[in-house]
This record gives sequence, structure tokens and C-alpha cells, in this order.
Amino acid sequence: MPTYEYRGQLISISDADSEYKGYFEAASAHRLVVKKCSDCGLLRGEPGPGCPWCTSLAWEWQEVSGKGIIYSYQIVAHTVIPSFRDWAPFPIVLVELDEQRGQPDPGDGLRITANLVDADMEPEREENVAIGKRVEVVFFDGEDGFSLPQFRLTGEVPENEVWTHQA
Ligand SMILES: [Zn+2]
Repeated sequence: MPTYEYRGQLISISDADSEYKGYFEAASAHRLVVKKCSDCGLLRGEPGPGCPWCTSLAWEWQEVSGKGIIYSYQIVAHTVIPSFRDWAPFPIVLVELDEQRGQPDPGDGLRITANLVDADMEPEREENVAIGKRVEVVFFDGEDGFSLPQFRLTGEVPENEVWTHQA
């Protein structure tokens, strides 16, 4: 069972863990994957063995572009996780990937949660974070082949007006 260290924390990924093992294997090759339902064909980013739309338990990994928009975000001002204390305040973003936007219903999409980082892989500053801004996946490379998908702003012109939470 591979065990990695990330920001002073140990992360163990069991060989029997179908939820995350393939995700991190793909990440170490700098590929972002999500689950694809083998029955209805829809992609999903959230953990869990069952398809949220058709309840099928059959799925496979599917590579995605890693490009999308900030659908929502949160600024973590204080954290109880010791290894992230020197990161605070830092953003956590809910990214809506370009694949499957508006499916299977207009309000749905393929969304995953991650950190938003800058060019130095440090937390993006709060004043730069806004809903609707374009982002792309970037991989933090740790030791022993461990990689963690994160996102960064692309600077592309957003499709729609961007907006922020009021402080
Ligand atoms: Zn399904």
C-alpha cells in the first residue's frame, strides 16, 4: 500500500481502494480522471460507488481536459489541520469542468473540489478568486511519484460576468 507525505501528513492509498487508487495513479502521470457510469455514460466528480443519476454501480475512469470555471469557492481563514495553517487564508474551489456542462439537467455539471494555486503552487490570493473565472488543472508533484491535482487561473476571458462573495 503506497503511503505518501504531503505537507507533513501521511496519505495512504490502499491497493483495494477503487475510489482513489486510479485517481492518484492517473495524477502521477499528470492526467485528470473522473468516474464514468458504464450504464448511462454520465461523468461524475464526487466520491461514491453509485451513479447519482441511474444508481448503477458499474463505472470506469475517464480522462478529462482539466479545463473549466470556478463554480463556487470558499476562503479558509482558519484551519484546524496543522499542515495547512501556514497556507491560511487559502481558497478551495468547486470547479465545473467543460465536459458535461448543463447535463443531465440545465443546473447540473461535472464538478470537483480542489485548491486554487498560483504559479508558485502557493494559494491564490483571495482578491484574484471569483466565480466564473477560467481555470485549468495543474499537478503538484510530491515525492515518490505522488501528484495532487490542483487548479490555477488561466487568464482566459470568462464567458459570463464574474462575481465574488462579499466579505
Ligand atoms: Zn449512470
